[in-house]
Amino acid sequence: MPSELPLVRDKIVYTAGPSQVRANVRQARAAEMTNPDVDEDFFAYYVELTDKLKRLFGTRHDTHILCGECMLGLDAVACSLIEQGDRVLVLDNGVFGGWYADMVTPYGGVPVVYEDARDRSFDPEKLRRFLDGDHDFKFASIVHCDTPSGLLNDISVVCPILKSYGILTLVDAAASMFGVPYKGDDWCVDITVTATQKALSAEPGLTLLSISDDAWKAMEARKTPIPSYYCNLLYFKESVRKVWFPYTMSISDIYSCGVAVDNILAEGYDNVLQRHARVAQACRAALVDAGLELHLTSGFSATVTGFNITGSMNCKAILKALYDKHKIILSGSYHYLEGKLIRLGHMGENCFPEKLAHVLGKLQLVMADQGTVLKCNLEEAFMRHYNGN
Ligand SMILES: *Cc1c(COP(=O)(O)O)cnc(C)c1O
Repeated sequence: MPSELPLVRDKIVYTAGPSQVRANVRQARAAEMTNPDVDEDFFAYYVELTDKLKRLFGTRHDTHILCGECMLGLDAVACSLIEQGDRVLVLDNGVFGGWYADMVTPYGGVPVVYEDARDRSFDPEKLRRFLDGDHDFKFASIVHCDTPSGLLNDISVVCPILKSYGILTLVDAAASMFGVPYKGDDWCVDITVTATQKALSAEPGLTLLSISDDAWKAMEARKTPIPSYYCNLLYFKESVRKVWFPYTMSISDIYSCGVAVDNILAEGYDNVLQRHARVAQACRAALVDAGLELHLTSGFSATVTGFNITGSMNCKAILKALYDKHKIILSGSYHYLEGKLIRLGHMGENCFPEKLAHVLGKLQLVMADQGTVLKCNLEEAFMRHYNGN
């Protein structure tokens, strides 16, 4: 008996990524196969797609696609840059930030975790003072949107500071890119790594990344070889010049990614970003009107909003009832935030007002059932703020 696929059917996936995937993106995966190593039309399609990504990343540097979800990209950066004993500055003001230390150590790197307050972007003066005393780092890693809290770091300030001390910058833009403005070159970002399953709203499976000349130079200047084939980014540098891929590309993933990128360009990138900003702002305003407590006081990302679990509210019970009664899947959080907040993933395809309005309406019903009475009609308040009234 063939197994049944766990289809979404009537479920509403409204998590902080993966986000919903539009039909034309899903259908692209059904396109007939070619041989991506031999068929020059495929290479041309790939180059066209990476050129479009350049524009979206705000960079003149080449962009590349690795065939693994963006953890592969983050790992490949560590693998390609780090040599035994290299110190890496891991900027940590959330859950994902400090996590990068785990990618540094397997390659013999020494992570130096720099912590700052978790409810706002890094304090630039404090960072400068720290760097005055110590700036001997191969590179620094920073998360743009720390998804578990929804905090958006101001990398337009942090990366230029790091760069002024001669430190290469790696930005994990998995949950921000395509939903909030991003200007890689203007902000002195050397390496940007992002994913397809968040605000781009394609399926998980690919890393999208850009690499600056300085970062390539650092990889080429290594004294020891890069200790991996699959994670060796230098093969991707050659790829562009040689019209050659280091391994067979995941062609269906790339087609659907390409259609998702075209969806953004067809709507207009600025329009997409404005839609995110407007939905996020209205979401926050409605939650506040309803008497709920936003998880953050500043540094809000336009891709995800969290509100705190307070008083007699029970995070697990709310999430379970939302699913059992209304088939809506929302995100809680994890690590030190486990059970402390509920997150609405209004990113990409999820980021349309009528979708969020529906989710908020059901959230209110479930909370009322569990004894939490809100101060206003959440759905109406959201639409009112969205429409600017
Ligand atoms: C989603 C995400 C990733 C990728 O992690 P997965 O476990 O594959 O979902 C990496 N960094 C950030 C900031 C993310 O939001």
